[in-house]
Amino acid sequence: MSVIYLDNNATTKVAPEVRDAILPLLGEEYGNPSSMHNLGGRSGKLLTEAREKVAAGLGCSPDEIVFTSCGTEGDNTAIHSALESQPDKRHIITTKVEHPAVLNVARHLERNGYDVTFLGVDKLGRLNLDELRAAIRPDTALISVMYANNESGVVFPIREIGEIGREHGIPVHTDAVQAVGKIPINLAELPVDYLVLSGHKIHAPKGVGVLYVRRNSLFRPFMLGGHQESGRRGGTENLPGIVGIGKAMELAVAGIEEENTRVLAMRDRLEKGLMESIPEAVVNGDPENRLPNTLSIAFKYIEGEAMLLLMDQFGICASSGSACTSGSLEPSHVLRAMGLPFTYSHGSLRFSLSVYNTDEEIDKVLKELPPIIERLRQMSPFRRGDEGLDWVEAHSHNH
Ligand code: PLP
Repeated sequence: MSVIYLDNNATTKVAPEVRDAILPLLGEEYGNPSSMHNLGGRSGKLLTEAREKVAAGLGCSPDEIVFTSCGTEGDNTAIHSALESQPDKRHIITTKVEHPAVLNVARHLERNGYDVTFLGVDKLGRLNLDELRAAIRPDTALISVMYANNESGVVFPIREIGEIGREHGIPVHTDAVQAVGKIPINLAELPVDYLVLSGHKIHAPKGVGVLYVRRNSLFRPFMLGGHQESGRRGGTENLPGIVGIGKAMELAVAGIEEENTRVLAMRDRLEKGLMESIPEAVVNGDPENRLPNTLSIAFKYIEGEAMLLLMDQFGICASSGSACTSGSLEPSHVLRAMGLPFTYSHGSLRFSLSVYNTDEEIDKVLKELPPIIERLRQMSPFRRGDEGLDWVEAHSHNH
């Protein structure tokens, strides 16, 4: 059975062109870019070329690119940089809907004496910039707001947020892990100090990321060690990953139009088809400002995990809106922050497409999913109005 992969916000397949670019590095090109001999020199050249490709894709200068091991490392490094360089400033502003790569750093800081303002979002998952302005204090060290949300797909107004930071002399960090390759990004015109991306979300392998640091912005290395990355990140470079992310960046830039036409059209057809054939469903997130590939949709009365298991029998891969990794089946912090009622948030699915999806795959989902949902609803105690629903609603988290 072939796999219908609609979980590209979780990870992506490695593009064949990326794999081809990497293969020599798993063979004869095993040099260390720091070595003086010819073999090392060839690796050094590949490192430089990858840096140039990433910089070209983001509209910045190659010396503003720091290669990291993942998006999480980039986020940690950016936050660490801003705080270490301004030890007197003990306040940061972020949002309730960040990825754990930022959220858990912020919570850790809070436990260690920092003040953190977690901005909320409205029902459509949007931020209110007046709340951001009002949260600014003389001791604010950093504003950290993601470019686009991994669950709802909502795109935040990063340019305006960057301008607010500039007005107040506060550094701005954006986690752009979900934005790169889906919406155009031009750092020449985007007033942010730090921007983070991750290879495995743009068809490069796992275990490589990029941290953009604007020239003259505050910086303190997070990973102390050798002189690699101009002293900004110790550790011998993951050259296969770096060459992969360079190639993936080139492909992402070339594919952005397809992402915003063909992928967007498939996503919209999926959304329309599901909404027409399944009653008591809602689409989560701002319809005006959403990533072109993402559909978060909630079906009342059922469990996302049950849907995932049944869909998996048809080879359909998506994700649910629950933080099931914690084992608690709590609705996700993003859907909770959006105030989605318990009966809906538990039945949320996230479909995230890529340029590798086809119309036939969308047809297959539109055929298989409605009967799955009908079957689960027939079994649902909530739908039968069993006792317990009121209790659950009353006790579900609403923050
Ligand atoms: N930030 C966002 C918005 C993400 O979606 C992810 C991955 O899911 C990350 C950060 C973490 O990236 P990585 O897995 O490369 O550490």
